[in-house]
Amino acid sequence: MECWNSGTATFMVLGDVCTRGCRFCYVLKGIPEPPDPDEPYRVAYAVRDLGLDYVTITSVDRDDLPDGGATHIAETIKAVKNVNPGVFVEVLIPDFQGDIDALKIVLNAKPDVLAHNIETVERLTPIVRDRRAGYWQSIKILRVAKEYGFITKSSILLGFGETFEEVEKTIRDLVDIELDILVFSQYLRPSRKQLPVKKYYTLEEFRRLKELASKLGIKSVVAHPLARTSYKAKQAFENVIKGRP
Ligand code: SF4
Repeated sequence: MECWNSGTATFMVLGDVCTRGCRFCYVLKGIPEPPDPDEPYRVAYAVRDLGLDYVTITSVDRDDLPDGGATHIAETIKAVKNVNPGVFVEVLIPDFQGDIDALKIVLNAKPDVLAHNIETVERLTPIVRDRRAGYWQSIKILRVAKEYGFITKSSILLGFGETFEEVEKTIRDLVDIELDILVFSQYLRPSRKQLPVKKYYTLEEFRRLKELASKLGIKSVVAHPLARTSYKAKQAFENVIKGRP
């Protein structure tokens, strides 16, 4: 309701079946349907009808498509902007298996924020994420987006057994590529099929991580157990624009 009341909503495109199997995620895994060519404009008209002014577009991973779904994501960004001039569009993208040509297809649609989630620290990446994901592959996607002049954003889920030093190292790796917006949130096990929670962080620990990330150079930090990538997305974006922490 908090996001909704501020004119923000998130749309997941390219279906609800993912080609990957991250061990913390509740999204269905399997072979997805082909992309729906009408979806970009249906999202755009929904944005208009709902009166939104900040939209996050996310998707499942589509390793079954030659471009990983980049063209469909780009078409959705363009449709939303075409039907809703002045609306800000944040896009939360897959890693496209490190394919920079696919990333460029998305960047050419000119999203206002390019988000991609690192999810966890380097040591735990092979345990937490799908084997096709990679810590440095994700860093590369964010680095290239920044090199092309985009506002970049990522998210770290806490509670998989990472140490404080490992989290700090991850923040430093993201600072090195000039990441703008970082979200910290608590991992909550969606069912017994996913990884167990190793640790629940206190509000004070979230506060300390926010302080640390800001001190190290991240321009806008959202840190709360129930925060997710799109939580307070508009506010985090405005903070970057206005130069606020
Ligand atoms: S790629 Fe994303 S949607 Fe797919 S399993 Fe991993 S976290 Fe879930």
